[in-house]
Order: sequence, then structure tokens, then C-alpha cells
Amino acid sequence: KVPAVGIDLGTTYSCVGVCQHGKVEIITNDQGNRTTPSYVAFTDTECLIGDPAKSQVFLNPQNTVFDAKRLIGRRFNDPVVQSDMKHWPFLVVDKDGKLKVQVSYKGMDKIFYPVEFSAMVLAKMKQTAEAYLGYPVTQAVVTVPAYFNDAQRRATIDAGTIAGLHIIKIINEPTAAAIAYDLDRSNQEAREHNILIFDLGGGTFDVSILTVHDGIFEVKATAGDTHLGGEDFNSQLVDHLAKDFKRKCHLDIRQDKKAMQRLRAACEKAKCTLSCCSDAIISIDSLYKGVDFHTTITRARFEDLCSDLFQATLVPLVIALEDAQITKAQIHDVVLVGGSTRIPKIQKLLRNFFDGRPLNKGINPDEAVAYGATVQAAILTGNRYQSLHNLVLLDVTPLSLGIETEGGLMDVVIKRNSPIPIKETQIFTTTEDNQTEAVFQVYEGERAVTKHNHLLGTFSVSGLHPSLCAVPILEVTFSIDTNNILVVSAVDKDTGNTGQLKVTDTQDRLDKEEIEKLVVEAERNQNQDTVQRQAIQILNTLAPCMLNLKRAAEDPTPNVEAKKRM
Ligand code: AMP
Repeated sequence: KVPAVGIDLGTTYSCVGVCQHGKVEIITNDQGNRTTPSYVAFTDTECLIGDPAKSQVFLNPQNTVFDAKRLIGRRFNDPVVQSDMKHWPFLVVDKDGKLKVQVSYKGMDKIFYPVEFSAMVLAKMKQTAEAYLGYPVTQAVVTVPAYFNDAQRRATIDAGTIAGLHIIKIINEPTAAAIAYDLDRSNQEAREHNILIFDLGGGTFDVSILTVHDGIFEVKATAGDTHLGGEDFNSQLVDHLAKDFKRKCHLDIRQDKKAMQRLRAACEKAKCTLSCCSDAIISIDSLYKGVDFHTTITRARFEDLCSDLFQATLVPLVIALEDAQITKAQIHDVVLVGGSTRIPKIQKLLRNFFDGRPLNKGINPDEAVAYGATVQAAILTGNRYQSLHNLVLLDVTPLSLGIETEGGLMDVVIKRNSPIPIKETQIFTTTEDNQTEAVFQVYEGERAVTKHNHLLGTFSVSGLHPSLCAVPILEVTFSIDTNNILVVSAVDKDTGNTGQLKVTDTQDRLDKEEIEKLVVEAERNQNQDTVQRQAIQILNTLAPCMLNLKRAAEDPTPNVEAKKRM
């Protein structure tokens, strides 16, 4: 089986994993890092992606592109783009309403669509996986924020295609994090399990409330701040230390981009140190005009500098709980995601908010989303995962799917609760002599007789050669892709003529309550349905016998085979 990788395509960092021998492995890149900056840079000689792109940003700011995730699937006049572009050093341009980015590459102006930058980062993640696995990787599950709209999701799929990756499924980042913690398993006794995902990364903050029931993850509410994260904490430190440098050395480094970038890199390192130590040393030789900068920052000072920003993370928590109409006591699990949740003060604020409850933080917070995507990728490609047995219910057909056959019987092709994607084929035939058209009625439901089920649509195959009934062979295939799009197709084996019906997730499908009602009704009517099914089946088996007898009397050669007659 060809494995698929799981990719967290992040705003500031991306991460890739693969499931091997039943276990998730997060793959290190060529620099030995488990996450890769979502940065692309263009120079006079080459295009850099990941760590080398980020580390030269201060030398080449106009041609280093980051934050592509804030651009993807948006138009130039989108208010978010208009506001964000003021802060980017690279040039965002309007080409007939379409948003593009202009850079200088190999001495020439070059214009790219945002999706191309995401594609380059995805290609880098693909390359990282291939270097580790030693064979080509062509399939991936990629995560997106729960609030991404259809255009942003489609653009992400396009980025995969450009990168040579078939994205078998897009999943929501909070869902991936919840999968990573296997949260549907640990609390099986709870009927509906509520999870709060607190995701504080480099550039964005997302709170999501999910409910898990029978392995199905549903996002109930999302809130957050699209401009709050580790970069802002870095900025607080940079501001403070630039002032400190001015006070001590009487030099203002703010105009010197290179010095500011070096200070920023040192601040990020110090910030990370402060998550495990009470103070951190900052030591930069020849920071500005040949003057060295050596200082120490304490955790208490850092917390003080960022106190307003840290407090601000509590506001979306309240909003998300209100929107989901859930009290904080009803939350079963609080999950930490994103590198910035390593900050002890953030954890303390969150624990206090939830009245001292322990937080879920067993998995590396900047890897949890990629971890969940990898588990999902393993499930979808049929690879084994150690605790797969419960998660197979993650995406399943909620109702059985089938075709109406003779006597109004429901002939099930795909059974309820089958994991998707799935493809099943069955052979059907005609019920009357000289039929030139075969009409297929596609239903979903659990009842034996179609009149109690839900009609999804009708299609036909025409141009059949006139023949005796039950002679044509009509091969019918039901296929459901990972995005829950059902395609039912039929081919007449004699003429090769085909017909098809496509049913998307939203169109013509029943909602959750209607599905539950149908399942309950089917259980209640099980005995009566069995009797009715048997009666119709007896009639259906008698029909070809009668026909064979009739035909044998006229011409002894042809014999009616036992095919399913519509
Ligand atoms: P993510 O986008 O989830 O990879 O998070 C990246 C952000 O997490 C960056 O701003 C990092 O500086 C920050 N981060 C990573 N590790 C730590 C740490 N130990 N303490 C504080 N922040 C961290």
C-alpha cells in the first residue's frame, strides 16, 4: 500500500508526518528540524524554501514571502488582505482583481499567485518525507483552519496539485489535534464528548470547541485572533531590548533592518529558553556600529511585557463557549496546540480559567496537528494504526446506499457505517423484454422497501440493444470520495453505453436528525421488513422461473441467469 503523509500547512511553520509500523513519525527536514518555516525566498541565483529562506529574511526582505496562508483563496480587495499587506515587506499587487505577489528573482521581476507559495512549501514537505522514506510520496492529508471557506480549501487542494501531491482529504486543524490525542477513545463512557482546542502558534490564535460522538468530530464553535501569537511576544521583547540598547549605548538600532532582524532572532531564542528557565542570556556581537549587546532577561520581566497579550487569549475562550452554548464545566478535555502554548504563564492562565483542571499536553504542541493529519492519512489509505479500531468511524456512510430493484426492494450496494472513501460494484439487469433503457433509482436508508427510504436521484442508461429481459449486464458502481461526494455510474456491458448520477454532500442529502430518525425507524420495523423482503424475494425468484418455463416452451436455448432485476 502506498502511504499518504499528513501535513500541517501552517501560517509560520509547517510539519509533516507518516505512519509506519502502526506509529506516527514526525519527519525532520534536511536541517534536522521537525517543523519547517513556511517561507519562500528569491535571490539572484536561486529560490529558497523553509529554514534557509527564513534565515536570510533580514538581508532580502522584499523577496522573502511568508504568511501565504493569509493570502490563499482571497481576492485583492479582501479587507483582510488590505489590512495585512501594510505589514508585509514583499509587494502584493492587483492583477485584474486577482491577488499576486511580485518579487525579484534572478534579476528579473516575477509575479506569483499566493497558491504557488503554498505549493512550494508543500513540495518542500513532500521532499522531506521522500528523503526519509526513500520513495516518492504522492498523497497527503492537509489541515486548514476550521473557519477556512470553500475558496480557501479549494486553493489548498490546488496548491497540493501544483506540488505533485494528491490531497486525499482536507481536515480541520482542531479536528486533527483532537484525533492526535485520540480523544474519542479515552472517554467512551461519555455520550457526547466536548473538547476545547487552544491553538496559539506563531502568528494566529484559534480556539475551537468540538464534540465527538461515535468517532465523528464536529466543530461547534471557533473564535480567536488572526494576529496574536509568538511573533507578537517576540515583538514585545524586541521593543524592550531596543530601548535597553539605546539607554545603555545611546544608539538607536530601529532604522537598521539587519540589526533588528538579528535582535529578533535572539529574542525568539530567549523567549523559548524562558519557557523552561527563569532567565535567559542575550548575547549579540557587533549588533550595531560595532557595539556588542549582552543582557539578561528574566521570565518575570517577559511575562510582564506580554501580560496584556497573554490576558487577551481568554476573551476568545469565553466567546467560543458562548457560541457553542457550552459551559466550561461541560468541557471534558482542554488540548494545547501551537508552540506558544509552551509558555508557562499561558498554561497557568488557562488552568485557572478551567478551575485547576489538568491540560492535555502530551504531544509536542507544534506537532499535534500534523500528528492527527498523519493518523487520518493512515486510516484513509488503509494502513494500520495502533488504535485504529475506534477511529475507523471517523468518516463513514451514515446510511446504506442502494438501488431500487424489482418489487420496490432496496438493494444495498454500500452498507451503513462503511468507512469512506469506498467503491463497490454490482451487476443488475432488465425486467422486461426489449428494454432499450434501464432506469436506476438511487436511495439511502435502512428499510427493506424503497418507499420508506430517501430517494437521492434517478439516472438511466439508454440505447440498450433490444433483447430478452434479464439478458443485459448492467454494471453499477457506487463510489464515495473523501469529501463525501457520491457518484453512481452504470455501464451496459454490451454497448458500452453509460449513465451517471452525482450527489454532493450538501445537495439532496439528509441532515443529522433526519438520518437518526430513519435509523431508529428501521430498527423498529426490522421484523416486519424482513418478512416483506422475503415475500418480495420469493416473487422475484419465481418470476425468472416462470419466464424460463415460458421460453423453454417456445425456444429451448436461452436461459435466464440469476441477475438482480430492476
Ligand atoms: P507553531 O506555529 O505552532 O509552530 O508555533 C510557532 C511559535 O511557537 C513560534 O512563535 C515559536 O517562537 C513559538 N515557540 C516554540 N517553542 C516555544 C517555547 N519553548 N516557548 C515559547 N514559545 C515557543
